[in-house]
Amino acid sequence: MIKLTYWILKCKSCGKEWKLLVSYPLDKEFQQLYHYCPHCKKNAFHEIIKYVEE
Ligand SMILES: [Zn+2]
Repeated sequence: MIKLTYWILKCKSCGKEWKLLVSYPLDKEFQQLYHYCPHCKKNAFHEIIKYVEE
């Protein structure tokens, strides 16, 4: 059975929360992540809200 895992990220630029599908657990050391934001359509810092495994 394949598990669906994702992170809830909050973009610090536009303030929107969105899902990033990942296949690895969240590193607790990470407080923020520099990643492409689909709303801003550019790279921005994101706050990591939580790691979800369904
Ligand atoms: Zn954004």
